[in-house]
Amino acid sequence: MNLPLIARGKVREVYDAGSDRLLLVASDRISAYDHVLPTPIPDKGRVLTQLSVWWFDQLADVLAAHGAEHHLLSADDVPAEVAGRAMLVRRLQMAPVECVARGYLSGSGTVEYQRNGAIQDVVLPAGLVEGSRLPEPVYTPSTKAEVGEHDEAISYARTVDLVGDEQAAALRDLTLALYRRGAEIAAAAEIVLADTKFEFGVADGGTLVLADEVLTPDSSRFWPAVTWSPGATQPSYDKQYVRDWLTSSGWDRQSPPPELPEDVVAATRERYVTAYEQLTGTPFS
Ligand code: ATP
Ligand code: MG
Repeated sequence: MNLPLIARGKVREVYDAGSDRLLLVASDRISAYDHVLPTPIPDKGRVLTQLSVWWFDQLADVLAAHGAEHHLLSADDVPAEVAGRAMLVRRLQMAPVECVARGYLSGSGTVEYQRNGAIQDVVLPAGLVEGSRLPEPVYTPSTKAEVGEHDEAISYARTVDLVGDEQAAALRDLTLALYRRGAEIAAAAEIVLADTKFEFGVADGGTLVLADEVLTPDSSRFWPAVTWSPGATQPSYDKQYVRDWLTSSGWDRQSPPPELPEDVVAATRERYVTAYEQLTGTPFS
């Protein structure tokens, strides 16, 4: 591709597509515990992209009700060699906050809760376990870590320091509204949207713009509603399966990660594709 490469993340590449545009290209790479695995998952890049595109449309009215927009310009008008897994988007000034919403306790949320009974300044009721539904969805923002660093949960007050009162409140309110709508749509498809992370940019004039990928298995925890049962790690349509396999393989999470066996690749691909098909109600092709 002859566009200048601006950044290469663990999963995606960002290209310069003009002074006001970027091309976001999702690869088939999969990461776990902050490592890129040596084995790609076929079709993963297309699933992530197609699902984001679908969600931007589903969420349009929630955005409009908050005076916000999304960044997608086109998923069709992209170079042939990345067709299906690339989005042409508005180039934005990104807010320096990862906007996390949680409706259920899981992962790093459970770890913090067990330590402090709270996730940063968000105090939660006693007696919750991995997979518990929270009384209300909560906003638990985190830092946008530099390459190689972990995102860290931060207090709401810290987001005020970073972006000011007005924008901090707008990010929180919009994140929770988008989460609620996303969770409702997922529930109708018998999927629990346990948590998710949004990223927003700011357009000229201060309009908030939903950016990045949206409500994908890489940015969210999706659990089959039928097997939801708090108290242990939940079966999921995201990469929990791969994390579990890596753990059972004895990998130490420091040395280069092992190749995934063929059946694990196939089962992982199946999970991503099923998430897409179950949510959107259309076959993946
Ligand atoms: P990693 O995934 O390895 O942790 P990363 O998050 O930096 O790193 P990606 O998610 O692959 O890497 O890259 C996408 C990058 O593009 C992110 O930094 C994201 O904030 C940024 N981004 C997404 N949408 C826009 C946009 N519309 N304008 C500007 N930047 C954007
Ligand atoms: Mg990212």
